[in-house]
Amino acid sequence: MGRVQTIDDEARRAAAAQGLDGELEPLPGEADRNYRVGDHVLKLHAPGFEPAVLGLQDAAMEHVAAAGLAVATPRLVRSAELEGGSIARVLTWLPGTPWAAAPRGPEALRSLGRAVAAVDAALAGFEHPGLERALRWDMLRAAELRGAAPQADPVLERFAGRVLPALRELPAQAIHNDANEHNVLVGDDGRVSGLIDFGDVCRGPRVCGLAVACAYAMTALDVPEREVLPLVAGYHEVAPLRPEELALLPDLVRTRLAVSVAMAALQRAEQPENEYLLISQQGVGGLLARLGTEPPELELLRLRDACGYEAVPTARAVRAYLAVAAVGPVCGPSLEAAPVIDFSGEDPPPPPEPSLGRYLEDRRVYDSAAFEAELPGERRTLHLGVDVFLPAGEPMLAPLDGTVRAVEFRPALRDWGGIVVLDHETGDGTRFHTLYGHLSKASTERLAPGDVLRRGDVVAELGDEGENGGWAPHLHLQLLTTDLGRGSDMHGVGTLAERDLWESVSPDPNLLLRLPGGVRAEPPREREGLLAARRTTISPVLSLSYAEPLKIVRGAGAHLYDEDGRAFLDLVNNVCHVGHAHSRVVAAAAEQMARLNTNTRYLHDLFVTYARRLAATLPDPLSVVFLVNSGSEANDLALRLARTHTGRRDVVVLDHAYHGNLTSLVEISPYKFDGPGGPGRPEHVGVCRLPSSAGDADDVRREAEAHRPAAFIAESLPGVAGQIVLPDGYLEAAYAHARAAGAVCIADEVQVGFGRVGRAFWGFELQGVVPDVVTLGKPIGNGHPVGAVVTTPEIARSFQTGMEYFNTFGGNPVSCAAALAVLDVIADEGLQAHALRLGGRIKAGLEELAERHACVVEARGEGLFLGLELTGPAEATAVAEAARDAGVLISTDGPGRNVLKLKPPLVIGDEDAELLLRTLDAALYEASRFSIQ
Ligand code: PMP
Repeated sequence: MGRVQTIDDEARRAAAAQGLDGELEPLPGEADRNYRVGDHVLKLHAPGFEPAVLGLQDAAMEHVAAAGLAVATPRLVRSAELEGGSIARVLTWLPGTPWAAAPRGPEALRSLGRAVAAVDAALAGFEHPGLERALRWDMLRAAELRGAAPQADPVLERFAGRVLPALRELPAQAIHNDANEHNVLVGDDGRVSGLIDFGDVCRGPRVCGLAVACAYAMTALDVPEREVLPLVAGYHEVAPLRPEELALLPDLVRTRLAVSVAMAALQRAEQPENEYLLISQQGVGGLLARLGTEPPELELLRLRDACGYEAVPTARAVRAYLAVAAVGPVCGPSLEAAPVIDFSGEDPPPPPEPSLGRYLEDRRVYDSAAFEAELPGERRTLHLGVDVFLPAGEPMLAPLDGTVRAVEFRPALRDWGGIVVLDHETGDGTRFHTLYGHLSKASTERLAPGDVLRRGDVVAELGDEGENGGWAPHLHLQLLTTDLGRGSDMHGVGTLAERDLWESVSPDPNLLLRLPGGVRAEPPREREGLLAARRTTISPVLSLSYAEPLKIVRGAGAHLYDEDGRAFLDLVNNVCHVGHAHSRVVAAAAEQMARLNTNTRYLHDLFVTYARRLAATLPDPLSVVFLVNSGSEANDLALRLARTHTGRRDVVVLDHAYHGNLTSLVEISPYKFDGPGGPGRPEHVGVCRLPSSAGDADDVRREAEAHRPAAFIAESLPGVAGQIVLPDGYLEAAYAHARAAGAVCIADEVQVGFGRVGRAFWGFELQGVVPDVVTLGKPIGNGHPVGAVVTTPEIARSFQTGMEYFNTFGGNPVSCAAALAVLDVIADEGLQAHALRLGGRIKAGLEELAERHACVVEARGEGLFLGLELTGPAEATAVAEAARDAGVLISTDGPGRNVLKLKPPLVIGDEDAELLLRTLDAALYEASRFSIQ
């Protein structure tokens, strides 16, 4: 921040002396004179500028640059003392549009939070003597500015009294401390690309740096308290904020604004002619006036919610108390059999008495001006209480002991009529409230704040339509974990976009009613809110597919449907093997679920029947079956079987293989241990190349001799390695080498088994081998989590060591019913033959595409397990994205992330195949152009 300088002779001379030629373009600066010259910034510091302070800036910039962040920061190129004592410093110039001139939507704000967090996280270990200097922008010293400006004083007073002591409790570190609208640079993609000006680096709690960024960003926002939330959430994504830091943020934002107002007043006193100071202050002063001295409670709740913490810190204690408290009825008539009426659509006819209206229902009836929310276009439609429809005059009872907090009569149309709010306390003194709305005027007049009510006492009587806001007579009963400092001026209806926040403020009133059927609706989540809630509550380690993620709500056959009913052809999901939501599988599982689901310590027909049916699909001597819950569990158990059988530990695997998400399997999966974030190959694992000929099985001999392994494990057609068809004779030779070294051969058929490859039921059959252990997962339950291990009697015998193998869910009757139905459907619908025929047709189409498109390297695969290798990952991603836009879902994989994987549900039809080939053709055409450019 500061004023724009003019170009003077000293600047010209300094630029020339520093070897900078080109136009000097003046830049804003508070204390220094700054110029852009080509790719550099020339900074001139007046004589007397402390060298230690410049040293601090330079060292801090160097420290951050060394961290190699995604956000760019400047570096010192050189510095020199000029004649007359000024200092000239040359820094790198960073491209980008200053925040002040860039569009500032939610994504830009989120990226600003991320950038500030990244820079301050990089500064965390930075130390320098200059950090101890006295800096007026140091938030910890804000109280010293009291008396400089009347507008700032109340905030600074509150800071000194209430905020500073808590701030001092937080750990301090070096922080950038000046992410204002001139120091933040935005790239062409609308996201923050750079952070400049390390002149205000100081030591302080990192939340002060965040508060600076928030304060300036908020000056340009229409509803700053709400719209700033993505900035804070973005910071939290990179540098998680603790609740005690968040608790100070609303005050610190106000403090920074007050500091700015106070500093400007001081500077104005020193330089009355400087109009720039006045202009730059308008936004800051206006925002401070809007926010007020004391943050409303809701502001903190929103910050907590945006960071994934439950909004009201005490809500959990209130719910826990109510879960076990002695609670009385709220009315005489029993509500157990009362029907629940749907109020989400148009106004229904007058409801019967008694009847109920649901909590958290998203209602269209709230359409009057009274239900507007803060953000333009946003309405309050989410019902935060439960409605109990009873005749006017019916007495309402206190379900808990309580004290009247507020009692009012608000007769306006769509308002509360008579309303009573009671205060209660949990056993450990946590305050909460109950609210009773739509009462009669006369009955509320009997009450006054401070009156004590016992459980079972009459609170008041229901009002009639003429006095209850114009509604059919009913009680609106609402629980409140906080009154938000608003007394009886409480919202009974919240915004859908903030449903988690409102659910924390007003928990399920069935904690009081205790109706076994519940009173809760499940409102839809709006897309932005869904993404934001997922970002904080679900680890991003679990990534989403596609630049624009899909919200899939239904599946049928080979298709998935999004929330708008748009169909997508699914080439990704080999889990729903016989088709999404296949009616026979659904019926079998649902019927068994309704009858019995328990563990396998009882005799049950389905467990044994399924095991027999499964074993019958495999060649001798594979005949002993273990049922588990996933492919990973199957592979983990297979390793245990092999290790117990051989008394050895090591494992030989194929390069790029993936065998599951358990520790034991990440250890034997090169895809993971050699992939991003991987720790490298563990000593007990030997890796063989992905073969290009049968002779490459020599790798297995070499690794088996070196490791004396318990097992050689391979997918019969490697999947994540890029839909590879192993060379003829490879597994035969590999198994022979492994067995010669005493190892057990495990075939991972999690992806490829169960008829997918068309020519055979099992992938290993294509190679003419019989494994010692076969592992299964994904397709065998058609989406229901089931996995299996099938092995020889001999290996199974070795596993009887005295230690029991128990798996709570593995082999439960519901899983068995689903899995049995899958086997039936594969046979009855002839799906293996279909995979052979349609797979052949698609493969021929892919081969034809390979001939026509320069960016295709190879088409390969068997049956409906196909791959299309492209020249690079960018092409593969571009094709997958274009296909998605055209309604076809395809995933990418392979060591170079350049293989399109096609493994649809086996029920994909001929027309689907045509659509797929047409879509790929068009997408490849685009991708080829893209790869030439
Ligand atoms: N083996 C292979 C070959 C796999 O592809 C997978 C999952 N992609 C697994 C095992 C693990 O299966 P799950 O995710 O069901 O545990």
